[in-house]
Amino acid sequence: MPTCDNLTAERQTFVTHLECGLEGDRYEADVLQGLSAAGRPLLVRYDLDALKNAISQQELASRPADLWRYREFLPVRRRENIVSLGEAHTPLIRLPSLEAGAGQLIIKDEGRLPTGSFKARGLCMAVSMARELGVKRVAMPTNGNAGAALAAYASRAGMESYVFCPEDTPEVNVREIAAQGARVWRVNGLINDCGRIVGEGRKSMGWFDFSTLKEPYRIEGKKTMGLELADQLGWNVPDAIFYPTGGGTGLIGMWKAFNELKELGWLTGKLPKMIAVQAEGCAPMVRAFEAGERHAQLWENAHTIASGIRVPVAVGDFLILDAVRESGGFATAVSDESISAGLEEVASREGFLMCPEGAATYAAWKQATQSGRISKDDTCVLFNCATGLKYPLEPAEESLDCTQPIDYSQLAE
Ligand SMILES: *Cc1c(COP(=O)(O)O)cnc(C)c1O
Repeated sequence: MPTCDNLTAERQTFVTHLECGLEGDRYEADVLQGLSAAGRPLLVRYDLDALKNAISQQELASRPADLWRYREFLPVRRRENIVSLGEAHTPLIRLPSLEAGAGQLIIKDEGRLPTGSFKARGLCMAVSMARELGVKRVAMPTNGNAGAALAAYASRAGMESYVFCPEDTPEVNVREIAAQGARVWRVNGLINDCGRIVGEGRKSMGWFDFSTLKEPYRIEGKKTMGLELADQLGWNVPDAIFYPTGGGTGLIGMWKAFNELKELGWLTGKLPKMIAVQAEGCAPMVRAFEAGERHAQLWENAHTIASGIRVPVAVGDFLILDAVRESGGFATAVSDESISAGLEEVASREGFLMCPEGAATYAAWKQATQSGRISKDDTCVLFNCATGLKYPLEPAEESLDCTQPIDYSQLAE
C-alpha cells in the first residue's frame, strides 16, 4: 500500500497563501494559479508556527521513509488526490576513495525514484495538486526526465498529457514518455522553443501549462530533497551542496526547505553553501553570478552532453542566484570533457554510474577543491539526479568465440 494512505481524508494543510517570488504580492491558494502578475514563479507559504505545534521530529521518524513523511510541509489537502508511485527516500552514498581531505564526499542518489529521476518529486506533487484543482489536460516542454515523470503521474491520475522535447533528447526518454501514456513530439529547437509551443497552444488546446516553475507546486515536491537530506543527517546539513542546475527547481526548493526548517528551529547554525553547477556550453547562471546580476540573459547556441541542464533561460533565475548568494555559494561551469572523465572515474573507482548531470557535480567538486574555492575538509553532497542507465554509455565491444579454445592469458590484458 502506498504510505500516503496514513493521511487523513479531510486534512487541513498549513498553506496560507501563494506569493510572487519576485514582488512578494499575495495570491490565493486552492485555486489554479500559474505565474504571478509580474510573470514570475509563485512560492507556497505556510503557517510555520501552527506547523511547528502540529508535528515533532520524533513523530516524523516513526513514519515510513518516503516523500509523504513530510506531508505537513506540503500543499496537498485531500488524501484521495495524492498520486504516488512509491517515492522512497533516496540513499546517501559516500565515495571514500575519491575524497580529497577530511571532508566526506557523498552522493544523494536520486536515480532510485520512480521514472528514474528526481523529476518524480516535483511531478508527483504538481500532478496531485492539479488533480485537486480539477485539471484534466496538461502540457510541458522537457529535456526528457520531466516529461517522463509527468507522463507517468498524469496517466496514473487519469489526466491527458502533451509533451514537447528537443529532437536530440535521449531516445529512452522519448520512448518512456510515449510508453507511459503521454502524447509526445520531437521539436527541432531547444527547450525554450518547446516552451513557446506549450504557451501558445494553451488557449486552443485548453491545457494547463506545466513548464518548469510556471505552476507553484513542483518546487514543493523538490523541496523534499532538502527536508529528506536534513532528516537523514539527523537534522543537520552538509557544508556544501553541488546541484546540476537547469531550471533550478531543486536548488530553489532545497533552499526553501532549509529556511523553513531554520524558522521552525529544526536547523540551527550555518546552512549549506549552494553551488549551482552548469555546463560550459550552457551557463547562463554562471555568467549572471559572475557579473553580479540578479537576472540571467538567454544563452545562445546552448550545447552539452548533460541534456538535463541544457536550459538556456530560466524564469526563476533570480531565485537561483539569490539562494546561491545568500548561502555563500557560487555558480560554476564544467566542460563536457570533465563531465565524461568524472563519470568514468566515479563508475570505475567507486562502482557508481552517475548520469552526466550528476557527473557534472563531481567535476565541479573536484575543480573547486583543487582551486581551494571549497575546503578539502568540507563535507559535500553531490546530487545524482537520474539513473546513469538512462543515458547512452561507452561501447564495450570485446567478444569471445566459444567454438574455439579460449586463450585465458589474454583476458587480464
Ligand atoms: C531536470 C534535471 C536537472 C536540472 O534540474 P532543475 O531542478 O530543473 O535545475 C538536472 N539533472 C537531470 C538529470 C535532470 O533531469
